[in-house]
Formats: sequence, C-alpha cells, structure tokens
Amino acid sequence: MEIEKDAQEALQWKQKYFAHLEESERREKQWQDAEELLRKTISRLTLAADGLDAALDRQLRDLRNAIRDRASTAQLDVLLEDMSRTLVKLDGQRKRGRQDAGDAPLLALLDALSLPKGTGRQSKALRKRLQSAAAAGDAAAIQAFAELIHAGLELAADAASPGVESAAKPGLLQRLFRTGQDQPQDRVADAALPASPGVAVSSQALHQATDSIREILIRLLERLSLPEEFVAELEAIRDQIEKTADGETWDRVLERIADLIQAIRSQTQKEKQGIENFLKQLTERLQDVDRQLQSSGQIHDESHQAGEQLDTAVKREISGIGASVRDATDLDQLKQAVQTHVDTVIAHLDRHREAEQRRYQQAGQQIAAMSARLNEMEGEAEALRSRVNEERNQAMTDALTGIPNRLAYEQRLEQEVARWKRFGTPLVLVVWDIDHFKRVNDRFGHKAGDKVLRTIARVLADHVRETDFVARYGGEEFAMLMTGSALDACLHVAEKLRAAVEGTGFHFRDEAVTITASCGLAEMRDGDSTEQWFERADRALYRAKQEGRNRCELAS
Ligand code: GH3
Ligand code: MG
Ligand code: MG
Repeated sequence: MEIEKDAQEALQWKQKYFAHLEESERREKQWQDAEELLRKTISRLTLAADGLDAALDRQLRDLRNAIRDRASTAQLDVLLEDMSRTLVKLDGQRKRGRQDAGDAPLLALLDALSLPKGTGRQSKALRKRLQSAAAAGDAAAIQAFAELIHAGLELAADAASPGVESAAKPGLLQRLFRTGQDQPQDRVADAALPASPGVAVSSQALHQATDSIREILIRLLERLSLPEEFVAELEAIRDQIEKTADGETWDRVLERIADLIQAIRSQTQKEKQGIENFLKQLTERLQDVDRQLQSSGQIHDESHQAGEQLDTAVKREISGIGASVRDATDLDQLKQAVQTHVDTVIAHLDRHREAEQRRYQQAGQQIAAMSARLNEMEGEAEALRSRVNEERNQAMTDALTGIPNRLAYEQRLEQEVARWKRFGTPLVLVVWDIDHFKRVNDRFGHKAGDKVLRTIARVLADHVRETDFVARYGGEEFAMLMTGSALDACLHVAEKLRAAVEGTGFHFRDEAVTITASCGLAEMRDGDSTEQWFERADRALYRAKQEGRNRCELAS
C-alpha cells in the first residue's frame, strides 16, 4: 500500500517535471519569436536612417547584416556602440553645417547686391564675418548688413549729386529724399557750400537717384531665391519699393528686407533644431535599445543556466533515489529517503518555475517597451526622411516658376557631362533669354513680368522631351540640356519651343502682348570645359539677339 503510494508520487513528480520541461520549451520558442521580430524591426529601422552619412550608412549595413546572420548580442553590442559614436559625431557636424547654412541667405543677399565701388571694403569685411562661424546667430551681422545697404544708398545718392559731401550732412537718407523744393534753400543756408547751380541737387538728379536705388533693391530681391513661404512677403516688399516716391523714406523698406532675412534665418534655425533633436533622440533610443538587448540577453542566459541547474538537481535526486533503493535495508527508511528526494525535486521545480515566471514577465515587459520605442523611432525616422526630401526638393526648385533652379541645373549638368564622357552620346546646351523683358516690367509692372516668367517656364518645361531638362538659370534666362540628339535635331526642337513661346498670348491691361524668346545652342565638344561650353551657347544667343531676336542660333 505504502509502496504503491510512493510509486504514485514518483509518477506525479515525473509528470510535473515533463510538463515543466514542455512549458520551458514553449517559452523558449516564444522568446525566440519575439527576438526574431525585434531583429527584423531593428533591421527595418536602420533602413530609415540610410543616406544621412556615409560612415553611418556603412554601420547600418553592418548592423543589418549582423542581424540577418544572427550575430550574438555581444557582437551587436559592438556595432551599436560604433553607431552611437557616429551619431554623436554626425550630430556635431550637423550643428556646424546648419550654422553655416543659417547665414547663406545673407551671403546670397550680399552676392546679389551690386553696390557702388566705395562700399568694397565694408562689404568684404561683412562677407568675412558672415563666413566665419562666429557670425552665426549674430543679430549684429544683420545690422551691419543694413548699414552696408545704407552706405551703398548714400554713395548712389552722392553719385547723383556730385559735390555734396556726404559726411558733412546729418541724416543722409532724409537729406537725399527730401523733395526738390526745399533743397536749394538748404544749400543757400549752408555757407560752406557754394550755391552754384552745378552743385545744387536738382529734382531730376533726385529722380535718378531714386530710380537707381529702386533698381538696386528690385534686382536684389529678384536674385534672392527664397523658400515658398516667403514669396508673398517678397512680392509685398517689391510692391512697396515700386510705390515709394522720391520724397519718402526708404528706411521702412530696408527694415522690411532686414525682417525678411531675419525670418528666413529663424526658419532655418528651427529646422536645424528639429534635426538636431531628432538625432539626439535617435542616439538616446539606440542606446536604450542597446541596453535592453543586453539585459534581454542576460535574462536569456540566466534562463538557460537555471534550466541546466534544474536538470542537474533533478538528475542528482533521481540517482539519489536509485542509490536509496539499492542500499535500502528497511522499507520505512527507504520510504523516508525517497520522500526526501521527491520533496527536494518538487522544491527545485517550484523554485525554478517561479524564477522562470519572473524572467518571462521581465522579458515580456522589456520586449514591449523595446517594440514601442522602435515603433516610435520608425515613425520619427519616416517623418524626418520626408522632411529632408521636402527640403531637398525645395532647395532645387525655383520658387517663382516652380521649375528646377540653377542649383538643380548644376547638378544635372554634372551628371549629364559624366554620362557624355562615358557614352559619348551628343549633349546639347540651349541658353534661352526672353526678348525685351525689361519693357514688360517697365510698362506693366513686375507682377506682369513674373506672370510672363511663370508662363514661359511652363511652356518650356511642358514642351521639352522627357530625357531633356530645363531650369531657370537666372532672371529671365533658362538653360536647357538635351541628350541623345545631334545638334540639328535639337535646333528643330528649339525652333518648336520658340514658336510655342511666341504663340502664347498674353493680356495686360486689355492689351494683347506677344512675348518672344531667343536661344543659343552649343554641343559639348572634346576638350570643352563646361564654362567654355556655356560661353559658346551664350555667344550664339547674343548673335540671335543682334540679328533681330525671336531666333535660335547655333554656336560656331
Ligand atoms: P534682351 O532682349 O536684350 O534680352 O532685353 P531684356 O530687356 O530682356 O534684357 P535685360 O537683361 O536688360 O533685362 C532683363 C530684365 O529682367 C531686367 C530685370 O529686372 C528683369 N527680371 C529679372 N528677374 C526678374 C524677376 O524675377 N521678375 C521680374 N518681373 N523681372 C525680372
Ligand atoms: Mg537677360
Ligand atoms: Mg532678355
């Protein structure tokens, strides 16, 4: 009876042991599945960060490969560590790079200004200052800029009224734009200056000065290629410039330009901040994931060890039972011994189960936390990527016409020239320039001029072949790259485009206006530099203008 009970107990713990083993195996499998998922997610995530930096790309690729090849946690650890370092470095680089970019509009503005000679030293100093990192975020740089424009305006004024010493007069801008009437009285009152008619500022000279200032400012604004959201303000400023009469002060206009520049700066600043934040978060999260992976690995190892310990313990007890049975002399003693062994095994099992339970929960929590993190990162990486793309597109697009800009042209040029060198298929450059465009602006205003630019850009872009490329090169000039066709075939296409432009009807103030354009074509030749090539096309364009406009001419 007693023996039967013992046998039953022995059977029970055996079943318990097997059930437990099964449970362990099941958990092991679950753990592996979860780990697999995790590896896949990380792998996908690394794709999102691709293209930010060459070193990072390499490390991401290594990480993906390591994950695919089921590298150990320790190996992954090393890779993640390397990557964190690169990210920190990259973050630093971005900080620096973005700071430079922050001043790019000011530099562009400076480039675009054709200021009188006398401001040379001042503008050189300003350029240096803008180029040095120290100027980043420096509001004084903007102040200096405004001063430079002021100085330029003063010189322009002096040129319009020779003999008037600018330094001797306070409030130069006011003086300059005071109406013609009180000017001579001023002169008479000023004993230091002879009141001869040659020296006095005539109202015609004032007119000229105002016109040239207006011209400088409008040119300046035209050459600014601004992000979409600033175009409206730019137009408003231009309107104001056009309306500003001789007697009014220019200070407000300059202030508005300065404000515009300030706004562009703060926008780039904000974008810079966004990317920096993201990179910082990415670094932190990768470190997090790294830590989690480490401790998950630890749990895994612990579980494995515990399983082995349990196995040893159970084996020990079983052989203990065997020995007890073999050496038993007395049934009660045997019963006692077996009971003790069984109790020990059960205790081991219970402890092991509890520990496993704990580890399992812990691992589950970690996996959940990690998955959430990774999901978040994935979303953010995606958002960042689309923002970077957007920025890239914006930087390559001309805001006024919506077609590729000069920067896009330079890039495409490089690609096409490389292809030309490799395959030798013909490559033709067409330089377009709208005829008498200044007249459109002068007669109908800048808005009408802009509309012409937009329409003609559309006509060119819509008619160009799929393999060809057209960009706004500057002001009212467009550059076109035609690939794969000989020069005479390209001339044929250009003629069609010219006719399409001519056939586009414009109406301004109820007047039908025909706009035409001229172009020069040149084929890329062995030994040509891109500059020489452009020059040849430009000379052909010049010939087209001289020979009556609304023409296409081939370079000699
Ligand atoms: P030509 O036939 O010899 O080319 O004469 P043109 O009047 O077209 O040539 P010019 O180079 O003297 O004038 C170009 C004008 O284009 C002057 C400039 O104000 C104007 N312009 C340049 N960019 C823009 C712009 O973005 N909008 C407007 N409305 N006008 C612009
Ligand atoms: Mg021109
Ligand atoms: Mg022109």
